[in-house]
Amino acid sequence: MRYQRPKGTADILPGDSEKWQYVEETARQVFKTYQFKEIRTPLFENFEVFSRSAGDTSDIVTKEMYDFHDKGDRHITLRPEGTAGVVRAFVENKLYGPQVLKPYKVYYMGPMYRYERPQSGRLREFHQLGVEAFGSESAALDVEVIAMGYNLLNKFGLADLKLVINTLGDQQTRDDYRQALIDYLEPHFEELSDDSKERLHKNPLRVLDSKAPEDQKFVEAAPSILDYLSDDAKTHFEQTKTYLEALEIPYEIDATMVRGLDYYNHTIFEIMTNSRALGQGYTTICAGGRYNGLVKELGGPEVSGVGFGLGVERLLVLMDAEGVEVPMDNQLDVYVVGIGDTASATTLKLAQALRTAGFTAERDYLDRKPKAQFKSADRLNARYTMTVGEAEIEGQVVNLKEMATGNETQVAMADVYKNAKQVIK
Ligand code: ATP
Ligand code: MG
Repeated sequence: MRYQRPKGTADILPGDSEKWQYVEETARQVFKTYQFKEIRTPLFENFEVFSRSAGDTSDIVTKEMYDFHDKGDRHITLRPEGTAGVVRAFVENKLYGPQVLKPYKVYYMGPMYRYERPQSGRLREFHQLGVEAFGSESAALDVEVIAMGYNLLNKFGLADLKLVINTLGDQQTRDDYRQALIDYLEPHFEELSDDSKERLHKNPLRVLDSKAPEDQKFVEAAPSILDYLSDDAKTHFEQTKTYLEALEIPYEIDATMVRGLDYYNHTIFEIMTNSRALGQGYTTICAGGRYNGLVKELGGPEVSGVGFGLGVERLLVLMDAEGVEVPMDNQLDVYVVGIGDTASATTLKLAQALRTAGFTAERDYLDRKPKAQFKSADRLNARYTMTVGEAEIEGQVVNLKEMATGNETQVAMADVYKNAKQVIK
C-alpha cells in the first residue's frame, strides 16, 4: 500500500515553507500598520453559514462545497472562503455592540477547501489571506482596503498590477439592473450555456461571471450597471474613485465585473496581473468588495462590511515567476564538532547552552569523523565551528573558528555556558 496525499492537496516542505512564512509575516506587518487585528475562526462551519451567505446559485455552493454529515448528523462544510465564518463570528460575539470600536477591522490567513478540478493554481485545499472591516459606510474605508491589498502585493515585489473596480450599487440599483439584464438576455435564452439558463431568472448578474465561450458575446454587449445607479450608489462610486485618485492608485472600471459570491454591493474590485505563470491574459490575485447585507443575512443587525481575499498559492507562483527574492535565513551560527568517543556529552551541553542563549546550533548525531562534521558545517553555512576533543575536555576549553576569517581562538568552556553572547558575535 502506498499512501498518497488526497487529490488537490499539497505538502509544503522546508525550502518552500520559508516562502510561506515570509508571505504571512509581511502580511501581518502590513495589516498591523492599517490597524487590522487577527481573527481565527473554525476551519469548518455549519453548512447553512455558507449556503446562506454565498447564495445558492454560486459555483461555491452548487458545485464546490466540501460538505458532509458528521457522526451527530450535523451538516458540516469545510470553509470554502473566509468571509462567511468571520461574519458568523462577528454576529455570534456581538462585535457590533456599543463597547466595540468601529470600524471593527480583522484579518485572517489559513486553508480553504473547494471541491474543484485540480490544475495549476487551483487546488482543493488552498490558502487565503483576507481582511474584513465592519461598521462604516464610508468610501474611504473601501479605498483603504483596496490600498492595503495593493500595497501588500507591491511589498511582495509584484509590480505589474492592474486594479479593476466596479460597483454593484445598492438594492434599488440591483433591482433595476436585474430587470434590465433579464429583458436583454431573455430573447437569447436558447443560445446561452446551461449554467446561464439556470441563472437567468434566479440571479442574472451571475451570467456576467460565466466562463462559457457561448456566453461571452452576450456578456460583452450587456447593458452596463453604471447606467442604472441610484443617486446614493453613484455618490459612493464617485467618492471611491476620488479617494483612489488621492492615493494615486491607478484603476480601470469594468462594468461587467461581478463577484463569485452573491452578497456584494457598492464597490467591488480585483487586483490582477498578466504574468504568464498563471496562463494567458490577466489573472485575478486579490478580490473583494463591500457587502452591506451579509451581517443581517447571518442573523445580525444591519452592519456593513468591506474586505478582500487573496490566494496565497497563486501569489507564490507569481513571486517565483517574477524572480522575487524571498529573504532566506540559511546561516547557522555554530556547528559544534566533537572528536573522539568521549566528546558527545560535552557537544550536547555546548549546543544546548548556545541554543538557550538564542543562537542556532547544530552537531553530529551519526558518530561521524571530524572531516565529515566539518563538511556538514560547510553545507549548513555555519558562521563558527566549535571543536572539542579529549585535550579540550581535559583543559575545559573549546576551539572556536570563525569561518569567514579563518581566525581560531581558544575559549573557556565556562564562558560558553555562562556568557555565550560574549563568545559568539
Ligand atoms: P476563480 O474565478 O479563479 O475560480 P474565484 O472567483 O472562485 O476564482 P474567489 O472566491 O474570489 O475566487 O477567491 C479569492 C482568491 O482565492 C482567488 O483570486 C484565487 O487567488 C484564490 N482561489 C480561489 N479558488 C482557488 C483554488 N481552488 N485554488 C487556489 N486558489 C484559489
Ligand atoms: Mg472559483
